[in-house]
Amino acid sequence: MNLQDINETHDPALRSWVESANDEGGDFPLQNLPFGRFRDPAGGALRLGVAIGDQVLDLQAAGLVPQGDMKQLLECSASERQALRLALSRGLRAGSAQQAGWQPALRPLSAVALALPCDIGDYTDFYVGIHHATAVGRLFRPDNPLLPNYQWVPIGYHGRASTIVPSGTDFRRPRGQIKGPDEAVPHLAPSQRLDLELELGVVVGRGNERGEPVSIEEAEAHVFGLTLFNDWSARDLQAWEYQPLGPFLSKNFASTLSPWIVTLEALAPFRRPFSRPAGDPQPLPYLSSGGNSASGAFDIDLEVRLQTARMRAAGNAAETISRSNFAEAAYWTVAQLVAHHTVNGCSLQAGDLFGSGTLSGPGAGQSGSLLELSQGGKHPITLANGEQRSFLLDGDSIELAGRCHRAGWRSIGFGPCVGQVLPAWA
Ligand code: CA
Repeated sequence: MNLQDINETHDPALRSWVESANDEGGDFPLQNLPFGRFRDPAGGALRLGVAIGDQVLDLQAAGLVPQGDMKQLLECSASERQALRLALSRGLRAGSAQQAGWQPALRPLSAVALALPCDIGDYTDFYVGIHHATAVGRLFRPDNPLLPNYQWVPIGYHGRASTIVPSGTDFRRPRGQIKGPDEAVPHLAPSQRLDLELELGVVVGRGNERGEPVSIEEAEAHVFGLTLFNDWSARDLQAWEYQPLGPFLSKNFASTLSPWIVTLEALAPFRRPFSRPAGDPQPLPYLSSGGNSASGAFDIDLEVRLQTARMRAAGNAAETISRSNFAEAAYWTVAQLVAHHTVNGCSLQAGDLFGSGTLSGPGAGQSGSLLELSQGGKHPITLANGEQRSFLLDGDSIELAGRCHRAGWRSIGFGPCVGQVLPAWA
């Protein structure tokens, strides 16, 4: 069985006995079945769940897993994963004999506290968004925006897992060293150029042994699924610290992860061919395969929404400030990232996380960061209520959204990925 295969779990006609899962606009129809962790808001142990409509199915209470260890689920073989998905799909279908037994295992999503979907091991942030890399490069190097290695190497750096936080976690504006272009020496201050980064997270499933590279053909068997990921970034700290070893404190104060892992199986109907623009170099053989060319990319529509404190006080919903698409933004596929990360013998482990890098589209209004939307802070964006933003102010919250649409298939979504900026420590 192949993770890209379409099977009965993708049938768009399927309906669930969980009535809210049949709403056309919902993120969690029966065809999605994303995995996450939750607990009682009053506390207690984390439990494994699957989102269905506006409910979560407690996998332990439904007798589907022995205990609440997401790592065991991540380490399942492809056939074990597919068997669990099939059991969930059949059990949650309208008319299923499981309804009576599973009904007591449902909890409203509004009545549980959602956590990180797994304990994050090592975290690597890639840079697959070529339009982002070009636009940011142009701000620093107008004549030479894209460095020559970009079209050959999936660029990345090792980040920090301890400050990856679940959606809904607010965080303080970071302080750090800042040196303006006209200043002789740096000073310590709260960041004045706090930004978001629209990314997808790649959750590693089965690991590989140290010294044993994963081939591109095998790469997706090591990926459990995708999440939304906001890699908050302090651009003024970054500008001063990033040479020669790359970003450090400008990136590791907070990164927000959405609570649900949308599995590669669920994404099967939303694949796209991978190809290179005419004139660009073809990937080296270890980053190339027939399967990757045929369907290595994922067609995921992405949105960035901003809600300012003033909008919140006025009861106004968050406003969309950018729209993008993973397949159109990314220069490298998920399979290529796994193959590249392990080609030197590096071992991945279940629960490791990759950030994709900022997923900006090619056009205006498709940028996945304020740095690009405001052209380096020179041209603030104007919101519907007249407020302007070059970078984030205290009280601003950012919500990322992801959704897959394709004619003939049931749309699925990624759920919330939201965080709010609090004032810096005094
Ligand atoms: Ca990033």
